Amino acid sequence: MEYISTRNTQEIFSFKSVFLNGLASDGGLYIPKQIPLYSNQDLEKLRNFSYKELAAEIISDFCTGEFSEFEIKTIVEKSYKDFRVKDVVTVNKFGKINLLELFHGPTLAFKDIAMQAIGNMYENILEKSKLKVNVVVATSGDTGAAAISAIKNRKNMKIFVLHPENKISDVQRKFMTTVEARNVFNIGLAGNFDDCQNIVKSMFADNDFRNLINISGVNSINWARIIFQIVYYFFCYFKITKSNERINFSVPTGNFGDIYAGYVAKKMGLPINKLIIATNKNDILKRVMETGCYKPSEVKYTISPSMDIQVASNFERLIFNITACDSKKTLKLMNDLNESGEFQLAKEELQKIRNSFLSESLSDEVTKSVISEMYKNYGVLVDPHTAVGIGVTKKISPEENTVVLSTAHPSKFPDVVMKATGIKPELPENLKSILVKKEKYDRLPKDFEKVKKYIRERK
Ligand SMILES: *Cc1c(COP(=O)(O)O)cnc(C)c1O
Repeated sequence: MEYISTRNTQEIFSFKSVFLNGLASDGGLYIPKQIPLYSNQDLEKLRNFSYKELAAEIISDFCTGEFSEFEIKTIVEKSYKDFRVKDVVTVNKFGKINLLELFHGPTLAFKDIAMQAIGNMYENILEKSKLKVNVVVATSGDTGAAAISAIKNRKNMKIFVLHPENKISDVQRKFMTTVEARNVFNIGLAGNFDDCQNIVKSMFADNDFRNLINISGVNSINWARIIFQIVYYFFCYFKITKSNERINFSVPTGNFGDIYAGYVAKKMGLPINKLIIATNKNDILKRVMETGCYKPSEVKYTISPSMDIQVASNFERLIFNITACDSKKTLKLMNDLNESGEFQLAKEELQKIRNSFLSESLSDEVTKSVISEMYKNYGVLVDPHTAVGIGVTKKISPEENTVVLSTAHPSKFPDVVMKATGIKPELPENLKSILVKKEKYDRLPKDFEKVKKYIRERK
């Protein structure tokens, strides 16, 4: 499989460099030169696969040249052995809504599904190529926990996680700071998520530092995260359809990673009608769909914090697709964004987005009432991100069968759920100990040089 950058289609990259670098040196995102296409016959063959068989089949197609099929099978097997359900995800129907529950991994959010596999891919690649890396990542809550769980105690790697001190939920923090492993370093930064993100971005742009520590990234623009997320669209599709009818997916969206995986599944031939971009008050993507103007504004803080994002980084991949893989055009739009804080899509481009996507946003008030209704009507507790996906689907009320991605376990957001339902969602039994374990993390000021020094001394 050959990869290119969204900002330059001439240079070819291997899966290995795509995996280890995360971001292309021209600032673009990596993307396959050609996306594999499955025929109806292929799809029928895949229909009866178990989740793990399906994952091995799909993932292999995206990393030929780096991993043998046997290696991929081993990675998949290892990655999902500790999930709380055999088939990694579950699909449940509540009234008209199908919920695809993606939170059965070790840190209770969908991010575990890709991250656990990425941990095993790292181990394999680093061992084969005799490399050591330091992973540096900024988190607004769920990514850091999933990454630490995937990387703790592995050979040849250390992980440094920056979280904004006092700005994430206690449960989210404890998932990171109660992990006892010699290769894990937690930093509570005196600042907000954007400050954490900016410091990490500056490290990636600082060539001397980058080479000195052999930096590597696992944030949501890493292509490997996308491919592991493609799998559950296929799996769920086969679970709820009989032949090749079309369905919709509603996806609680922040950085546009999870829903972009659905778009790739559609391009691979999966009969998806519409992908519904469900957002909270940070509704930049809804506004793009209406006006064609992409213009980030101030982040608004909501009860679905993992979607409190204004710059949907993976959107650049969609831009590349809808401009018919025109890297010059993509680069121009990204430069516009840098220089004037916005870019404008042409009418035909916007139409192409509208052919595949719909978007709506939901207020915190309505989100809470969705949580409360789901409990009243079906006795099920849903987390606030999932509730945004459900509420938006109801608002749009599409004709086709719709699947809502349930992205986090309700016990990760106990206060919101408790307020809406009167019930406190409990952590799964084997995770309760994090609430009482001793926490370990270091506090640092919002200072690039000080954070660099901290990492240099521990790399
Ligand atoms: C990260 C996250 C999202 C948003 O996913 P993106 O890929 O960034 O769009 C939604 N819900 C939860 C619970 C998350 O952790």
